[in-house]
Amino acid sequence: MDKPKALLVAGISAELKGMLAEVVELVPLNKQGDANQFLADQGADFELVVTSAGKGCANALMEQLPNLKVIFNWGVGYDQVDVEFATSRSVQVTNTPDVLNECVADMAIGMLISQARCMGEAERFVRRGEWLSNPTPPMGQKVSGKRLGIVGLGRIGLETAKRAEAFSMQIRYHNRHPREDVDYAYEASIVELAKWSDYLLLLCPSTPETYQMIDREVLQALGPQSSLINIARGAVVDQKALVDLLLSGELGGAALDVFEREPEVPEALMDLPNVLLLPHVGSATFETRTAMAQLVVDNVKAYIESGSLVTPVN
Ligand code: NAP
Repeated sequence: MDKPKALLVAGISAELKGMLAEVVELVPLNKQGDANQFLADQGADFELVVTSAGKGCANALMEQLPNLKVIFNWGVGYDQVDVEFATSRSVQVTNTPDVLNECVADMAIGMLISQARCMGEAERFVRRGEWLSNPTPPMGQKVSGKRLGIVGLGRIGLETAKRAEAFSMQIRYHNRHPREDVDYAYEASIVELAKWSDYLLLLCPSTPETYQMIDREVLQALGPQSSLINIARGAVVDQKALVDLLLSGELGGAALDVFEREPEVPEALMDLPNVLLLPHVGSATFETRTAMAQLVVDNVKAYIESGSLVTPVN
């Protein structure tokens, strides 16, 4: 039997491509010359789209695929897919939750400690040869026992909180709704959470509701002795306010894995020693990327075999 066709609309790993090729005929959109012409001629042939969390699937593309049934999203965040629009067209969306919780939580703690203890700046100090003539390397802030505020205590947030407990950190959190299965103190106001926090960690999704939710007021409440850790999405933060307050010293520091317009990083942040900059690598380990790839393939197989999905979003 012929394998069903799947339209590939984003860059994905060679590993995932190889795994998918065993179950579908993968057709990369960017190899088809004039994409609009290709979609006009053959768009109706595709029931399946494979994409990445960063690329998603635009509404205009969905409209060019009249028989589209499922969008398989390689990543847990699906903010680049308009799920409401997909649902209105009876298009299902899948993502890759849970399998990346541990690695993203490891990275969140790593970012927090790295920023607090100036690891990036200290490392550059060694590499630049400055240690040879300067006996005073950069000095940081203590982590153990400090106050960690988490905005978005979900799957990854909870894994991160567990790790922070091992550092005797005090933990409070903000979600839209308090969780009944945790003892951490709930804070209904993000501004109040920021005032309390030494470190404010973002792990909520990017949605219209969370767009620039971490605004100037929240960042000012966090203040000059405290730091923002963003491993969620750039859109959750007012990036202009963030840069302004870091430059003026009204915010103590930041560790950022995500940005408003990736891969663009504000030039003003490049030379700030109290800012850790990472290229969206929260889940980027061989083990986790393989597990995410396997979950995409499991979803594709389940859909082909039974019309069901392992991890549906809508
Ligand atoms: P999750 O289990 O759905 O948790 C999200 C949490 O955010 C929930 O506790 C939810 O609680 C809260 N939340 C949702 N909307 C909110 C709002 N408007 N205001 C305040 N809190 C809100 O998701 P997850 O699997 O932990 O992933 C979280 C996010 O991390 C993803 O969406 C993704 O953007 C990001 N991520 C980044 C990387 C990376 O590489 N940097 C990797 C993986 C994930 P309520 O429903 O009670 O509000």
